[in-house]
Amino acid sequence: MRKNVIAGNWKMNNDLNASIRLISELKKELSDKNPNVKIIICPPFTSLETASALIKDSIIELGAQNMYSEESGAFTGEISPNMLVSVGCKYVILGHSERRTIFNEPNQLINKKIKAAVKNNLAPIFCVGETLSERENGITFKVVEQQITEGLEGLSETELQNLIIAYEPVWAIGTGRNATPEQAQEVHKFIRELISKLYSSSFAANITIQYGGSVKPENSIELMSQPDIDGALVGGACLKADSFIKIVESI
Ligand code: PEP
Repeated sequence: MRKNVIAGNWKMNNDLNASIRLISELKKELSDKNPNVKIIICPPFTSLETASALIKDSIIELGAQNMYSEESGAFTGEISPNMLVSVGCKYVILGHSERRTIFNEPNQLINKKIKAAVKNNLAPIFCVGETLSERENGITFKVVEQQITEGLEGLSETELQNLIIAYEPVWAIGTGRNATPEQAQEVHKFIRELISKLYSSSFAANITIQYGGSVKPENSIELMSQPDIDGALVGGACLKADSFIKIVESI
């Protein structure tokens, strides 16, 4: 049975002291009373090592927000997969829309990053989603299909055992405007069917597909109750312990 996964993408927020404060608040409230939910936090690189030590012996797991596709070398400012593993990361967000738009990351680079992640036993949280104009032009499915087929090209079902897909409509990220549960469910169902065609129906049935885009306590119950939505990738609402905890509890 697939597991629900709630992941908090802290983005470029929280210096080391603020990270320590937020993690200690989360740890106080998040226990294993929610056995069917996996909880992941993705702080900035500078807080990862400390976060890893702080969440030891808790149910919280650690992810990074990005990485480069090479193992080492002359790539000033970049972080490699094994560096993330060495500080305790198990997950890495790849293909986030902010990386795609602000840093011009194409599907081909995201594909290389996913390959590097799986080679290093890091589970990718692979983000896909259409812009507002793409939705208005009726090409949401086409865009998402291209992101997935190009992003996963050359990767086998065995290599993708720990893959998490996050459907994040770009127009809903950080805007306060979430997709309706029906809009989100429609795309999640499409993604599961696509994965079934590209791989197998059993793989598709077991893959976690998160929704992301202005998830908050007020809308999470309705979104999470859709049959193909298996958790959330949360931005703004994960920066306050109480709202992140409420989202976890809505599962
Ligand atoms: C995100 O950054 O992945 C995200 C979904 O952000 P927000 O929840 O703020 O829309």
